[in-house]
Amino acid sequence: MLRINTITRPTPTASPAEHHVVSTPANRSASGWTSYVPSWTPSPQRTRPSLSKSRIAGFRNPWPSWHKPTTAEIWDSFQWGDDNDGCQELAASHLANDTAMRKPEQSKLPRFGDINDWPNSLGAKSARLLRVEDPEFSFPDDTKAKVTWLGHAGVLVQLPSMDSRIKGPDRPVRCLFDPMFSARCSPSKFAGPIRSYPPPCKVEDLPPIDIVCISHNHYDHMDQDSIMSIWRRNDFCVRFFVPLGNKHWFVDWKIPADRIIEMDWWDSVELTVPSPTPATSTLKLHCTPAQHNSFRTAGDADSALWSSWYIELLHPAHGSRPNKPPFRVFFAGDTGYQFHPSPAWPPSPNKPSPAGDNEDDKKFPACPAFAEIRDRIAPPNLLLLPVSVGATFAYLRSFVPLPDWINPFPRHSAGVTAANHMPPWDAVRVLKAMAELGGDADGEPAVAVAMHWGTFVTDPAEVLRTLGALEWACQRQGVRFGRKLVKGGEVGDGGPQPWFVAVNHGGSVCL
Ligand SMILES: [Zn+2]
Repeated sequence: MLRINTITRPTPTASPAEHHVVSTPANRSASGWTSYVPSWTPSPQRTRPSLSKSRIAGFRNPWPSWHKPTTAEIWDSFQWGDDNDGCQELAASHLANDTAMRKPEQSKLPRFGDINDWPNSLGAKSARLLRVEDPEFSFPDDTKAKVTWLGHAGVLVQLPSMDSRIKGPDRPVRCLFDPMFSARCSPSKFAGPIRSYPPPCKVEDLPPIDIVCISHNHYDHMDQDSIMSIWRRNDFCVRFFVPLGNKHWFVDWKIPADRIIEMDWWDSVELTVPSPTPATSTLKLHCTPAQHNSFRTAGDADSALWSSWYIELLHPAHGSRPNKPPFRVFFAGDTGYQFHPSPAWPPSPNKPSPAGDNEDDKKFPACPAFAEIRDRIAPPNLLLLPVSVGATFAYLRSFVPLPDWINPFPRHSAGVTAANHMPPWDAVRVLKAMAELGGDADGEPAVAVAMHWGTFVTDPAEVLRTLGALEWACQRQGVRFGRKLVKGGEVGDGGPQPWFVAVNHGGSVCL
């Protein structure tokens, strides 16, 4: 098991902008943008939130970019019928090149479609464009990082071994983010949103896991069954890292308290292999901000913190051996970037410059957290970014199964929930904000891998719209888009352009 070397918290400075406001009373005005960390009340914050207390300790997003849509804004954003933004057509245009018509295993088909259905049905198109592959977990020699998408926000990141006793490609360090292997994201096994694509593998198929990071307590990110079976299979080596206020759930699930590390934004922890083995590298894990919220049971909204995570694999100098450059991974969790009330936002092939966009921009700024993470730590080499389009109401289909040519449910525009969830357009902006000038020491550009899409969708059109919207956003913003990473590739004038890759369920990207 990896050893925890040190846990560091930011040192309080004279400026209140940089440290925790521990002794703040609960009724302090939320209006001042004074801190990058949410303020909290000192008790009962670090213990289980008590619902009997009139004051429930909680967290809030500290930036002016945080905005809860009003009822009128939500109503205005509703869209009925087929959307005609051009994104579906762009995604479907790739079907002409699709030669893999092999019928997938029955168990691995999405709920809404079969590639052998009538080929023009949305179900068949989305089943052909987004498939479920058997994941492949081997770690090739000389790999800097390998990331495997396991559905929704579940991602396995493997990094080179930190143990000098282990040579070659064996036993990389394995970090699992927001594992979700259950059929429903819900407190009930019988009701609630059901996944449209099956998980690409079972927990039993995973290799040993060293670190599990959870972004927040929503059911689609903190899944009790997945976490407990990971614990049972990895009790000899695994540690769980959670943002403040979430540890008690794991303790309730009978996971020993010393295996759960609760962290605040900007806390970091250093992990090494146990001495006396000379470590070849150190893993530094930072709990970083995200613009989101939390909710798990009645009355506990925002009483636990949400976060993103940042991993650095550092290689200290050894004797005369030159210092190998670090490798950095950013997992955004569930986060928004910029609220846009305009139903025409985001830009799309049929509306490249939506009316009202500029006014929206002036009124509602973008979340500054990502640029700050880049400035405080470094530009990441690998980013795991959520891409979701506005289709919350398509969930209703999971309760009322209908053929996909009947579409009675409204969608909301992606901008109205964009303070909470990033649509592809914003995910590309975040990639550029964090990593455009990055790239690693070998001159390889930064790579983003899409997650938080194509899993709990229930509406096959959403799969097409997400893929098309991501491809189009990449084209417009000078980022290379691919369904897999093509090494080499052309280099733009301003240096190597970053990549945004949307792999299949179970697919991997090797760097
Ligand atoms: Zn969430």
